[in-house]
Amino acid sequence: MAKSKKAAKKATADTHIRNIGIIAHIDAGKTTTSERILFYSGVEHRIGEVDEGTATMDWMQQEQERGITITSAATTLYWNDYRINLIDTPGHVDFTAEVERSLRVLDGAVAVFCGVGGVEAQSETVWRQANRYEVPRIAFVNKLDRVGADFYRAVESIRDRLRAHPVPVQIPYGIEKDFVGAIDLIEMRLVYNDEDSQGAEIELRDIPEEMADDAATWRERMLDAVAEFDDELMQAYLEEGEVSPDAIRNALRKGTLARKIQPVLCGSALKNKGVQPVLDAVCHYLPAPGDISVVKGENPKSHDTIERKLEPSERFCALAFKSAIDPHGDLTYLRIYSGVLDSGGQVLNVGREARERVQKIFLMHSNDRDARKSAEAGEIVAVVGLKNTYTGDTLSDPKNPILLEPLQFPDTVIAMAIEPRSIADRDRLVESLDRMALDDPTVRSSTDKETGQIVISGMGELHLEIIKERLLQEFKGEARVGKPRVSYRQTIQSKERGESTFEKTIGQKPHHAHVEVESFPDDSVEHPEVENKVSKDIVPLEFHPSIVEGVSGAVESGGSLGYPLMKMRVVVDKASLRQNEGSAIAFTAAASEAFHNALDAAQVTILEPVMKFEVQVP
Ligand code: GDP
Repeated sequence: MAKSKKAAKKATADTHIRNIGIIAHIDAGKTTTSERILFYSGVEHRIGEVDEGTATMDWMQQEQERGITITSAATTLYWNDYRINLIDTPGHVDFTAEVERSLRVLDGAVAVFCGVGGVEAQSETVWRQANRYEVPRIAFVNKLDRVGADFYRAVESIRDRLRAHPVPVQIPYGIEKDFVGAIDLIEMRLVYNDEDSQGAEIELRDIPEEMADDAATWRERMLDAVAEFDDELMQAYLEEGEVSPDAIRNALRKGTLARKIQPVLCGSALKNKGVQPVLDAVCHYLPAPGDISVVKGENPKSHDTIERKLEPSERFCALAFKSAIDPHGDLTYLRIYSGVLDSGGQVLNVGREARERVQKIFLMHSNDRDARKSAEAGEIVAVVGLKNTYTGDTLSDPKNPILLEPLQFPDTVIAMAIEPRSIADRDRLVESLDRMALDDPTVRSSTDKETGQIVISGMGELHLEIIKERLLQEFKGEARVGKPRVSYRQTIQSKERGESTFEKTIGQKPHHAHVEVESFPDDSVEHPEVENKVSKDIVPLEFHPSIVEGVSGAVESGGSLGYPLMKMRVVVDKASLRQNEGSAIAFTAAASEAFHNALDAAQVTILEPVMKFEVQVP
């Protein structure tokens, strides 16, 4: 069934490209499934095993040590004339940034569920993220060979907990140690993976007699679920009671693309069963880049919304979604949305207003790469030569700039102090940290004003642990690392006013300014917002920026405990000056002091991150 890589290379037509990711709860078997996918599609000559630490997709050392997938790597493979760009998406909540950026550039996803556990807390998180990005999905219920596995219960949990519309297109034959394979309800055949070839050879067998009734019942349910998506199918179904496999697949595709249903397949990746049909389903049901009609962005100058069709004939635009350090020149992974990118060509980094030259374009496979002269709309490639482009940046045709919506990252929840041994070490450490933050925007660092320590914050303990290890490896210096602690925030609970008058003679010149502010809680804003309502008839416009700066600076420095303030607003509603005595310094100082006075009067309270977690016991 697997076509050779060469034969399948003609898979360049847009309709034959799939940009997909595998999303899952940690341990559901995403890596194991990915490894089979690479093996059966001919990319790998042997199956890498997670448990042995040889899995190809887990290419970072930390991942191999921990046996989990952390950094998404984009890998291109070929399947039956289709080119599939597989973006590995981490299942651990700590790596939110990785998930977000993968989902942003994917067109479709395979959600892997554990046949024993079904939907688990992290599957819910990533499923919701995928909803947000409107990603069509198919589901693979894995691990049906395990004790306690129950396909139907897993499907129910997808329906109940995710409020999804799973439509089984296969049902298992046998379960636990007797799991034989999947019964294909479209072809009405048993998919049998030959064990001697590690599952590579597939036989389509007749459905065993004892399963005939079940298969008929579930086929009926599948047809019921998809009939509404295709009139022809509906008609054939109602009139003749017989429908062709192609008609069924068509209807399934329509329903999946409309995100009304999710076809469900079943198998056991570890036992090499049922993985190839998942690849077939990716080609049958998940969108080609052209199925997504336009990408939206804005004109960087006028901020007007612009739409680009996802076609090679359009002007070029792409989103940088990942950078990776590479011995042959650092790589930037790009999702090209429109137009054509040429090797050697010049592009504009729109947000940073920097011209960039693309030296090389690669199609990345899991352990080799193909150099390309050009790449076009719909493709995911890695390029070498970009000096100033980081995760989330838009690249565009210099003459027709468009700024794609940037990736959104959540606030960090946990922080850890790190203390280098010497001043020289400190500079290098800060440099390494800055580089890391460009690549992973959920890594933040700051300097504690009181202790002078460098504080790194991130998305969870595991995330901090990985940052620490990578940092110490990269910067090769010595540093003492503190215990992780929660990143608190502060907010106010009451509406208060504060005022202040600045009056001083500096260098024989009198300075005077008076500012009044009101601060109040507002749940609708994350970061504090400052609004200036002072009339320009009372205070000349030239001093307005100083007023806002004074308040903003005071807000930035945080509440009495030094934690960042959030969920509040400050309105500057009164200000005045004595004739000829107003100055920028006076207004900044008065505004800052006025806010501090309001804050002192307000009840300040500490906020801590709230997490939902699930405890599982055997
Ligand atoms: P990931 O965290 O989702 O990438 O999951 P992995 O692929 O690393 O798998 C987690 C564990 O489950 C590993 O020990 C795998 O060997 C095991 N596993 C994966 N798929 C199956 C399966 O189909 N059956 C059984 N019994 N174990 C599996």
